[in-house]
Amino acid sequence: RPTLYVVATPIGNLDEMTPRAVEILENVDVIAAEDTRNTLKLLSHFHIKTRLISHHQHNETQSTNGLLDLLEKGNDIALVSDAGYPLISDPGGVAAKKIMDAGFNVVPVSGCNAMLDALVGSGLNTQHFMFYGFLQSSEKGRTSELCDLKYFPYTMVFYEAPHRIEKCLRTMLEVFGDRQICLARELTKKHEEFIRGTIEEVLEIVDDLKGEMVIVVEGSQDIKDDREDAAVPLVHEQIKQYI
Ligand code: SAM
Repeated sequence: RPTLYVVATPIGNLDEMTPRAVEILENVDVIAAEDTRNTLKLLSHFHIKTRLISHHQHNETQSTNGLLDLLEKGNDIALVSDAGYPLISDPGGVAAKKIMDAGFNVVPVSGCNAMLDALVGSGLNTQHFMFYGFLQSSEKGRTSELCDLKYFPYTMVFYEAPHRIEKCLRTMLEVFGDRQICLARELTKKHEEFIRGTIEEVLEIVDDLKGEMVIVVEGSQDIKDDREDAAVPLVHEQIKQYI
């Protein structure tokens, strides 16, 4: 059966590209890319000459019909985004679902992903965690989303645009109070850095930080402190609100 491969590509260091990912990009009939110019650079590095088409968030519905058409004609397709896993704060979710529903194979091809690298390097609890992705960019929207997460008991991972990191940390301090966080910066690149400390401590140096960043935040301690006897069932009750 024709297959859509959802292929992770590097988030910084080209050596993150796995041999399996290279082989799949070489062997599929078409590569659907978030930004064909970006992907072309990756493909030239690996001497891959597969045909490229565009699949980004502004044409996702229309382009999904095109992908379905190609699959129906027997073509295998690889879907890639600009960095990391497609579908993870990147386009591809609409296409993958429609293509699954139409009965085609959808196969993830793993590689690097900023969320997991940030979590593993954060020093915070990795047993239970939640990936939130991007908060809303408006102050009001961000505050409201963070208020909903105030008592979430497990580690939380957020993506944020570089120019909004400081604003975002200020809102987190206001809503959550001071907590342990980690800013994971320039992952897998030359200036990779894990800045660990309380929100207030990190805010003191955030002005000087450049590049891409992930914010990892300690979960709320309040539930455990306030309701020690019933901690486990109550934590699960709490989690249900988020599912
Ligand atoms: N699909 C990607 C993934 O699997 O990680 C995420 C793409 S999302 C549009 C971009 C965000 O991911 C950035 O704003 C930043 O929060 C995070 N990010 C991506 N690459 C990064 C890197 N090398 N270092 C730190 N954060 C990164």
